[in-house]
Amino acid sequence: MEKAFKSLSIFDFQDQFPDDESCYKYLAEIKWKNGFKCAKCGHGKYCNTKVAFSRKCTKCSYNESVTSGTLFHKVKFPILKAFWIVYYLSTNKKGIASTELSRKLELRQKTCWLFKMKAMQAMGSTGESLLDGNVEVDEFVVGGQEEGVRGRKNNKKKLVVVAIEKKGKGISRAYANVITASSSKNFKPFFEANISKAANVRTDGWRGYSPLKEWFVNLVQENSGKKGENFSPMHRWIMGFKSWLRGIHHHSRHLKYYLDEYCYRYNRSVMGGEIFENLITRMVKAKPAPYLTIIGY
Ligand SMILES: [Zn+2]
Repeated sequence: MEKAFKSLSIFDFQDQFPDDESCYKYLAEIKWKNGFKCAKCGHGKYCNTKVAFSRKCTKCSYNESVTSGTLFHKVKFPILKAFWIVYYLSTNKKGIASTELSRKLELRQKTCWLFKMKAMQAMGSTGESLLDGNVEVDEFVVGGQEEGVRGRKNNKKKLVVVAIEKKGKGISRAYANVITASSSKNFKPFFEANISKAANVRTDGWRGYSPLKEWFVNLVQENSGKKGENFSPMHRWIMGFKSWLRGIHHHSRHLKYYLDEYCYRYNRSVMGGEIFENLITRMVKAKPAPYLTIIGY
């Protein structure tokens, strides 16, 4: 069964991307897969320029580089190294710390961290495939004492809401986000962005979930039981996330990114080598991310 998932080995990767040029070529193929369309005027014809892989609109003369309008825009180090970062991020089961990237690629740790944050921006849910079928929702706390802040705002501890789609006794997919309080007002946008209205949603008895029954008509509430035994796959998922967070990131600043990264990898754990292509494609299609929007998140 496992053989069905082809994985991108380090040798495959080196064969496919020996130099910067091969990376730019790959980006160009993704960017203009459905043909050229001028970013300024929408015209469909172009001519090549002196700069390899750039295209110039024949109508308005706008000169578009292969990286402009993507998360690879204005990257200050060789594109091949950027591809290596995406490779490690997408093929390592647990992701990779920026300190380790720095050592492997001979780049500054901060440079690696920043580019990694850009890649993580592309890992958020696209909202195109909502969780459906049997779905469970719960919240948990990250940081601080990790208990007993329900219903209240708390600055040091962060509250996370998570939804899982069940498959048999396990979990097929999950989405999570940071919320400011466990109230229906905070739950509703998360539910709408991630869960199908037709899903059979199950939550514990917390009153913050009750008003959502108006939109999610199949929502049922059930006592979580001693130590959460009625929601055990959910609790295993939460434990898994927390131990990963401690191991890779050590802290919970930028928690939203870490949740996106974890869910992205979790939801694609059966994808094998395609996860690299999927992540690069998302980075080409994403909007460029200036430094300030990343740190000011
Ligand atoms: Zn144009």
